[in-house]
Amino acid sequence: MSWKSQLADSITTPEQLSERFGIDPEPLRAVAASYPLRITPHYLNLIDTSGDPIWRQCVPDLSELVVDGLPEDSLNEAAFSPVPAVVHRYPDRALLLVSGQCAGYCRFCTRKNRVGTTALTFSTEQIAAGIAYIAANSGIRDVILTGGDPLLLDDDRLEEILMALRNISHVEIIRIGTRVPVTLPERITPQLCQLLVRFQPLYLNTHFNHPRELVAVSVKACARLADVGIPLGNQTVLLRGVNDDPEVMVALCRGLLKMRVRPYYLHHLDQARGTAHFRAPVERGLEILAAMRGQVSGLGIPQYVVDPPGGQGKVPLLPENLLEVGETVKLKTACGIVELPNSLLR
Ligand SMILES: *Cc1c(COP(=O)(O)O)cnc(C)c1O
Ligand code: SF4
Repeated sequence: MSWKSQLADSITTPEQLSERFGIDPEPLRAVAASYPLRITPHYLNLIDTSGDPIWRQCVPDLSELVVDGLPEDSLNEAAFSPVPAVVHRYPDRALLLVSGQCAGYCRFCTRKNRVGTTALTFSTEQIAAGIAYIAANSGIRDVILTGGDPLLLDDDRLEEILMALRNISHVEIIRIGTRVPVTLPERITPQLCQLLVRFQPLYLNTHFNHPRELVAVSVKACARLADVGIPLGNQTVLLRGVNDDPEVMVALCRGLLKMRVRPYYLHHLDQARGTAHFRAPVERGLEILAAMRGQVSGLGIPQYVVDPPGGQGKVPLLPENLLEVGETVKLKTACGIVELPNSLLR
């Protein structure tokens, strides 16, 4: 079956979830009205039991509506957005938001207030303006296609965007951030791989969070990309009740290495509204990292990072960068000392 028909067969309503799992759809209607719901047939089939690590990532939960005092734009991206489709926070790198849609909507998404809605869906003209911005800023060497999920675009549209970026001489590398190898592996067709490889150097970063996601079709999707020569990385988010466990993370990272996917970042959860039930404390993340040393090849140990609100950029979380852990967490960073309320890091 084609990826488009797989996508069209996704679950998008609490009623469909109720049919499948016999749960009461009523309480989930309000959640699904606030934040989009989509679970592909592939991802749905990975669920074993209600509340398991796959379920938690994709099935709406009433906790999402708890008023948690967390901001909607946790990374203050609006302040770094010179034109609507671009986020330009580091001088040499820019995000280009090319698609507002994802194959599945992760309940913990940092952009959950906008993903899957018109607020994150930019017109062809707005994306052209984003590309023009990049063309006019010769300091930008690295363009990261994101959204939403860039691989929900058709091949033709993706090709147009990649060609426009490749026409800019100062753009040295292109990266694509995508979760389709996890949620919609059918999207990684041989044709897509042939298209992407024309725009090298092009890196693809995907987003596996749990070893149970490393199933045969996803392994095959990654193998197709690796076989044509696309370097693969993985960004994981530390999630309570999903992967906040050394054994799980060891299995995940070992499994990724076997798939030729290099663990890149372990993100401490961003402070986005409606995600507080996924928070794990910094100490837990550091403990997991310590446990990985000695059990996983150095090649497979991701950098543990936090993106503090306010937009200073990512800060590596290393025991030696933690100056103080109490009411506040003080971190030593390249641009000085960052102080964060500990409650927000939990
Ligand atoms: C994370 C991020 C990047 C890419 O950062 P790397 O550390 O180079 O992977 C670029 N721009 C923004 C706004 C980011 O948040
Ligand atoms: S795939 Fe990424 S952008 Fe899309 S919902 Fe999940 S975390 Fe958010």
